[in-house]
Formats: sequence, C-alpha cells, structure tokens
Amino acid sequence: MKNKILDILTQTGEYVSGEKLSQLCGVSRTAVWKQVNKLKEEGYQIESQSRIGYRLVYRPDKLIKTELLEGLQTLNWGKHSLYTFDNVDSTNNIAKDYGAQGKPEGTVIVAESQSRGKGRLGRLWASPAGQGIWASIILRPSILPTLAPQITLVMAVGMAKALNKIEGIEAKIKWPNDILVNNRKVAGILTELSAEIERINYIVIGIGVNVNQDINDFPEEFRENAISLKEAVGMRLSRVKILQWMLEEIEKTYHYYLAEGLKPILAEWRNYSLTIGREVEVIMGNERIKGSAVDVGDDGSLIVKDENNIMHKIIAGDVSLRGKWGSYAGD
Ligand code: ADP
Repeated sequence: MKNKILDILTQTGEYVSGEKLSQLCGVSRTAVWKQVNKLKEEGYQIESQSRIGYRLVYRPDKLIKTELLEGLQTLNWGKHSLYTFDNVDSTNNIAKDYGAQGKPEGTVIVAESQSRGKGRLGRLWASPAGQGIWASIILRPSILPTLAPQITLVMAVGMAKALNKIEGIEAKIKWPNDILVNNRKVAGILTELSAEIERINYIVIGIGVNVNQDINDFPEEFRENAISLKEAVGMRLSRVKILQWMLEEIEKTYHYYLAEGLKPILAEWRNYSLTIGREVEVIMGNERIKGSAVDVGDDGSLIVKDENNIMHKIIAGDVSLRGKWGSYAGD
C-alpha cells in the first residue's frame, strides 16, 4: 500500500487529498496518514496541508525496492526477486545462501553497506554506507563449470557499457575483474561458483561500485588506486539510476552470451581492455611471470608472452596482475 501511495503521488506530481488516496487504496484516511509517515521516515519528503492533501517533493537516492523498481527496464533481473538490506557482512554471502535455497536466476541482493565486502582471494572491498552500490546477482547458466570464468568477462563488458552511459565517464576493463576510470579502480566484480563436476548449481556475481565517495572516504591504503564516479565527473550521481543501468546492461550482455557464445563478447571486451598490449607481471603462488599481455583466450584466460617468448595461459582466480597502471595514463 505504501508503494501504491508513492506511485500515485509520483504520477500526479501535485497535491492529492487524503480522501482521494484512501479511496484509491481502499483504506482509511488514518491508514494513509500512517503510510505517509513511514515514507517520510525512509527519506521521502512529502508536504502535507490540511484539507488539500499530500504532495511528494523529494525522493531519496536509497537502494530500496520502491526506488529501484520505478523505471527499471530489465527483462527479468531484479523485477521479481529483489532483496534490499541496510547492512550485511557481504551481499555475496547472502546471495550464496539464497542460491542454495533455490532462488531463481536474476535474483538481486543490494545493501547500503557491507561490513566485510569481499575482493578476490580473501581481500577486503571497502563498502561504506550510502556511497556506493554493493550488489550481488544469482545466475544459473547451463554451461560447464570450467567455463564459469567467462562469466566474469561477460559481466565486465556489461558493467563497462553501463558506466559509459554516464556523461564524462570512460570506463575500461583491467583483466580479470576490475573496472577502471582514469586508470583507477572504480568497480570490482567477484564471481563465486557452486558446482558439481559437470553442472553449475549457481553463480553469484558480486559487484561493488564507488559512486559518491570523496577520496578521503577510502581507507588510506586504497586511495592511490581507487576512484569514485563522483570524483571523476565532479558531481554526486544517482546510485538508483546507475544500478538500474547496470542491471539492464549486464542482463542484456549475459543473454547475448548465452545465445551467441563468448566470441562477440570478447570482441567488445578487447575494445574496453586496458590489459591487452601492456607489460604485466603475473603472480601465481610462488611463480612470477613478466611479459606482455597479448590477448584474452576463448576461455577468458589471459595470454602472456614472457621475456623468452614463451606463451603462458593465465586463468583468473589464481593470479594477481601487477603493473603501474597509473603510469599508462594518456597512452
Ligand atoms: P585485485 O584483483 O585488483 O588485486 P580485488 O579484485 O581482489 O583486487 O579487490 C580487492 C582489492 O581492491 C583490495 O585489496 C584493495 O586494494 C582494493 N579495494 C578495496 N576496496 C576498494 C574500493 N572500494 N574501491 C577501489 N579499490 C578497492
């Protein structure tokens, strides 16, 4: 009912009387008043004038259902299965629980903050309250588990497309899972897999995007390599709109991948890639390979030619890429 009141006030844009709202919602005027108060508590500014009614003057940029579903243009993702939280340890952990419970493909989990946001290999992802998008999506592709790393590339292409819709942003991909703006990390993608030998049970895609942080909001040790979209464009941005674009673009890219395979996605991936053609240092356990990244393979691996011209196929998940990405600015 709260959503219905919100819809009516949004569509009208003007004062609507308490009586009219109570008729349209089929409840008493007191019930309407109570729901309006709840909306105010959530951050909506609603003016009320006796005998005239209620008028919506401000919608908060909160990652809550009413906001996210308004104007969301996905085919399915988030529309039927969307869970929003204030604080969680990690949205990926919730998504894994939900995946194990059988929640469908396209289930989206979003939180205002994460206390233990995850990067790869147990690293931490800083996820302060209200400043970014910390979200996970459950996927159930009918592909072999060995192909799961491809999904990270698919998601990265979708993410680059979504962020490039923002005026003034040029988002690039650093293999395997980072999205960079101005050579600094604006977003990360963490793919987690539950599978049997021949079958994927579910994949959880975790995505963290720095939206409205100032540089001092990042932990000191991350500042050199991190950036928010706000810093890049010089103004606050709507997290709601950006999350909608993300869901729309990555859902589209994912369906394209399921229909056409990785090839066309790889072509797009190469266009966004910051890694191909660059000197890299790959750390795999105790082994270090120095060389140049020559291409990305059909399985999503990075192909590196070392100093002795020997080719190495690097599978995501086992490695860290090192390189002074900042020094490539302006290339
Ligand atoms: P990589 O693969 O680039 O080493 P991960 O994808 O594992 O990194 O992400 C975790 C790392 O990202 C952290 O160790 C930290 O250096 C950096 N980091 C953590 N939080 C953020 C953030 N909000 N924005 C940008 N970088 C971050």
